[in-house]
Amino acid sequence: MIFLFTFIPEKNLEKIKILSYTWPDVEYKTFKVIRYDYFIWIDSIKNAQNLRPILSAYNKITFRAIDPTDSIYLHFIKGYYIVPYWIDTVKNNLIIDSVKFFHNSNYISGFIYSTPGDTLIIVKFPYTINPNDSFRVEIYYHGITNRSGSSFGGGLDLRQNNIVYADNEPFGLRRWLPSFDLPYEKPQIVDAKIKTKLGWKTIANGKLIDSLIEGPWITYHYRESYPIAPYLIVFASSNQFTIQTQTWNYNFISMPIYHYLGPGNNNPSLYLPNQLTIFSNKYGIYPFYDEKYAEVQIFQGFFGGAMENQTNTFTIATNYELLSAHELAHHWWGNMVTCATFKDIFINESFATYSEAVYDEDNLGYGDYNGRGYMGQIHGDINRYLNYGDYNKPIYNPGPSLGDVFDVNITYSKGSAVLHALRLLFRVIYNDSALGDSKFFEALRYYGNKRKFSYARIIDFENDIKEFLNNENRDTSIGYFFNQWIFKPGHPQFQFLISKHFNGSTYDFYIKVNQNQPSTWAKFRIPKYPIRIKFSDNTQIDTTINIDSLLTQTFYFNFTKEPTTIIPDYPNHYIDQTSVTLIPEDEFIYVKIKDNKLKLSIPRDGNYDIKIYNSSGRIVFNKNLQTNKNQIELLLNLPKGIYFIEIKGSLNYKSKIINF
Ligand SMILES: [Zn+2]
Repeated sequence: MIFLFTFIPEKNLEKIKILSYTWPDVEYKTFKVIRYDYFIWIDSIKNAQNLRPILSAYNKITFRAIDPTDSIYLHFIKGYYIVPYWIDTVKNNLIIDSVKFFHNSNYISGFIYSTPGDTLIIVKFPYTINPNDSFRVEIYYHGITNRSGSSFGGGLDLRQNNIVYADNEPFGLRRWLPSFDLPYEKPQIVDAKIKTKLGWKTIANGKLIDSLIEGPWITYHYRESYPIAPYLIVFASSNQFTIQTQTWNYNFISMPIYHYLGPGNNNPSLYLPNQLTIFSNKYGIYPFYDEKYAEVQIFQGFFGGAMENQTNTFTIATNYELLSAHELAHHWWGNMVTCATFKDIFINESFATYSEAVYDEDNLGYGDYNGRGYMGQIHGDINRYLNYGDYNKPIYNPGPSLGDVFDVNITYSKGSAVLHALRLLFRVIYNDSALGDSKFFEALRYYGNKRKFSYARIIDFENDIKEFLNNENRDTSIGYFFNQWIFKPGHPQFQFLISKHFNGSTYDFYIKVNQNQPSTWAKFRIPKYPIRIKFSDNTQIDTTINIDSLLTQTFYFNFTKEPTTIIPDYPNHYIDQTSVTLIPEDEFIYVKIKDNKLKLSIPRDGNYDIKIYNSSGRIVFNKNLQTNKNQIELLLNLPKGIYFIEIKGSLNYKSKIINF
């Protein structure tokens, strides 16, 4: 899903704070949903007195028992319901006419059903069903769906008596279809029959099977034959659609692309065939290639963006290049592999946003900071997060509200920049940019294939990446990467202190990195962090330092010409904030005593006298030594307490220290 802020600038999901909602986890249950066969007759197109969808409908739900099963539950919002994760109220008036229960194709009586809270349907069977048995629950209902609120995910809506459509993410399906409405519960088949007034055109997930005209009515029959997350189950129907068709050819495949355009729109997205090819090359073939791809313009009432409904993207406006790319990319990342829970929304939105850069890279090249191209997109993501992001939201489980989950600065922008950082890590692991890049995409395909038509948590993605590297006999100790960038909030705030010293023939150059970010954020480890060093003769070199997850670190260089300053993170690859300050060399002396050990680092080579005084001024330690730049550790034999240290040599230093 994506929002177009230019269309509805007042839409700011950030402003609403929900304090207590917990996004549901994947939970064990004894049954699995196999198939939905649903029928909806939208009658209010004829009787439009209140411009709300008036339905006569059923859903026949086929299950398989995994373990002994004596009951099932489904999600269904029958009546009044205050949405806990958003400022939204459902005011449905849906009446269940009957419930039927079949076991091994036989109608079984003696079951009981209840609808606690008007939000669930619980069916208790007269006996226990054995594992692997299939059974079916049919729910017949009619009534009106109605909602207030302004966000997406509102379920079924009818506008101006000329378009009816569903919009579900995260939990809108249960507002119009009895279903097991959590993202990980993907039925293998969804068969949809939508009956509207003759003259209306309907599109739903998957392939059109047939259509049937009965008097003034037409029933469109579609079937999605790939597993589908509940929030992606939709249809749209209108008497104002015009349809244009393109064909995508790829190897031996020829697939239709449908454009359902609203009134007055003759501007379908012509980017799609090329985008299908680019993503198929990068991620593996378009997963629904023997069905279709469609872009459907929801020309009234839509939330102001686009939604990646499976094989059937809905959008407020067509022919936006990166919007098309984003929603199409979801068909791999989100639809083929679905976030297990909305805490794992990175699996969907960060990948789709990153894919905009992947598309630009193939189409326009690697690029640089500005404008389009791969690095232009990544640079935009980094800046959006740094300029507007709530730094204290982690990517995993960003918060209780819908605005937190779909936070454009965190879930979309930061998440995309983190996937870029993972690609850079692959370059380090393979010690080669081109090989690292191709292995990065190979790893994405490995993960995609492993989770194909199923779901993934972020931890599954992390484990699959490690498994890929393990199969390649590469370093798999990259848990820190996921921890620092995804599971913890924030980013590095690096303070670079630099100092130089002319030693008579060459320049000693020191770079000290302090990690000044809040302690609740990680200390970041970034191998081969890029820096540009500039010299007084206007030349420069690009090099790297290995930043470790330490509070402070010092790096030493030696140059034949005079260094003047550095540009950290050149060219802007990482989400970080940096400062560079030139300081006197003696400020680089580092002294610490702990457990009777003196830890010492003196940046400049030379001969030094080190004296330690106790609090009454008596010398208790006295040593002369020749230092190099490395850490020095000297054993003391002193009681715990307060001391003073004095260092004399080519650099001088005095300080109070405590022997802990
Ligand atoms: Zn999206």
